[in-house]
Amino acid sequence: MVTIRTVGIVGAGQMGSGIAYACAQSGLNVVLCDISEDALAEAITVITENLDRSIRKGLLYAADKAAALARISTSSDLSVFVDADLVIEAVTENEQVKRRIFRTLAQHLKAEALIVTNTSSISVTHLAASTDRPSKFMGMHFMNPVPVMPLVELIRGIATDEETFAAIADLTTRIGKTAAVAEDFPAFIVHRILLPMINEAVYTLYEGVGSAKDIDIAMKLGARHPMGPLELADFIGLDSCLGIMQVLYEGLADPKYRPCPLLVKHVEAGWIGRKAGRGFYDYTHNPPIPSR
Ligand code: NAD
Repeated sequence: MVTIRTVGIVGAGQMGSGIAYACAQSGLNVVLCDISEDALAEAITVITENLDRSIRKGLLYAADKAAALARISTSSDLSVFVDADLVIEAVTENEQVKRRIFRTLAQHLKAEALIVTNTSSISVTHLAASTDRPSKFMGMHFMNPVPVMPLVELIRGIATDEETFAAIADLTTRIGKTAAVAEDFPAFIVHRILLPMINEAVYTLYEGVGSAKDIDIAMKLGARHPMGPLELADFIGLDSCLGIMQVLYEGLADPKYRPCPLLVKHVEAGWIGRKAGRGFYDYTHNPPIPSR
């Protein structure tokens, strides 16, 4: 079985930075790559905050913080992946962008290096076909926020070999996560169930059944959800939510997955949730207030 010591991560956004934290804290070397220098700088800030939180909770010795940070390097160039045993792709949920990266990646990797995608919904088999190594490719779907969510969905593509699956299952355990195995169907398990619920909450708002605040309170107090579905949508990112609904709608060819027009409108307006300062709530207020 391939022993993974150095992990390359493409995409230093919400997910890439969380995955970098989980890997570095578990003793792996991490090379984090993004086209945006701002995203790389922000990722290091977020990782440092997460390490400080682990120290406060007694999960990490203060003396180990500097060592964990020293295991992480950043770059805007894929050529830094030359020593990586594994590359985890965590860029924007856009199939064309991901496929372009996989086509370019091959020339920078060792022949035996594995590749996984953190896609929330796109076919692993289809993405694998744009690499030079479909047998060494699979889905490794982390949950947000990575530092606190224990689950990773593992998804084989049609060509994934058992050695690759065993190496990634082993890595999942080494970084303190628990695996659930899903077949390569649109949105896998968690998002296949979660996103239609969020989309239905947006329809509930769109049709005037309740205000954003009432919909969220209803689901928190009536269904024991820790976050309301609209708050959760803002947290995930409305662009990601829309992308996943489109994959479900097209991939399963069932009208029940039609993205709510209000979700589409928010994305068109650039109101894509917390990361943009505005989604279903306006985060320039403390506490946030409903956007409309
Ligand atoms: P994000 O927008 O926070 O980050 C994406 C990053 O990718 C950005 O920093 C961007 O600069 C970078 N990027 C874009 N094109 C690039 C390129 N060509 N080369 C290098 N970097 C590039 O998005 P995110 O929420 O971190 O999502 C990333 C992936 O993780 C998506 O596939 C998403 O579906 C998946 N995911 C997201 C969540 C969630 O709740 N947000 C949960 C699980 C999985």
